[in-house]
Amino acid sequence: MKVKNGDFVMPGDKLGIIELYLLGKGTYDNEGDIESTVLGNVKINSKMKTISVEPKSGCPATLEVGSKIYGQITDIKPQRVNVKIDRMVDTPRDLSLPYMGSIHISKAKEDYLDKISDAFRIGDIIKAEVVKITGDNVDLSTVAEDCGVLKAMCTRCREYMATTEKKNELQCKKCNKKEKREVSSEYVNI
Ligand SMILES: [Zn+2]
Repeated sequence: MKVKNGDFVMPGDKLGIIELYLLGKGTYDNEGDIESTVLGNVKINSKMKTISVEPKSGCPATLEVGSKIYGQITDIKPQRVNVKIDRMVDTPRDLSLPYMGSIHISKAKEDYLDKISDAFRIGDIIKAEVVKITGDNVDLSTVAEDCGVLKAMCTRCREYMATTEKKNELQCKKCNKKEKREVSSEYVNI
């Protein structure tokens, strides 16, 4: 993958190799590959040969019912998971406020879900739809086909996992552990 200035990247996305750039904010060296540690936009300074990833600016965007968002699972409760909302899908602008949202177990997938940990784990990057906003509470749903987990790490060895031929199953390429998730049709296989 070759990134350019302004590209939107996610944690774990490969930005280049350390021979080409000095590491800036929001990046780290993974055995010679430069990877992003955050959701944000790539900033390359060709004069200084630095590469960084910054959460982006501009005039703020506001969430509405029906908006689709990218976020990360921060917490798992018996009936719901909490989500740090990073940005809206349709706009590169920052949100006007740092929003937290949550997904109730009934809004995770179309079928009945026994345990919410069969759909999400902490650290998963997801796409979701805003279904209700009450004050500071943002209720999200991942029932739509394109919504759900976009990127997930193995709970055993923290490697990113790949989809398998089975629906809503991911497998770690390092230790082969299989895990259940509510997988989006847009899951990012590395
Ligand atoms: Zn693993």
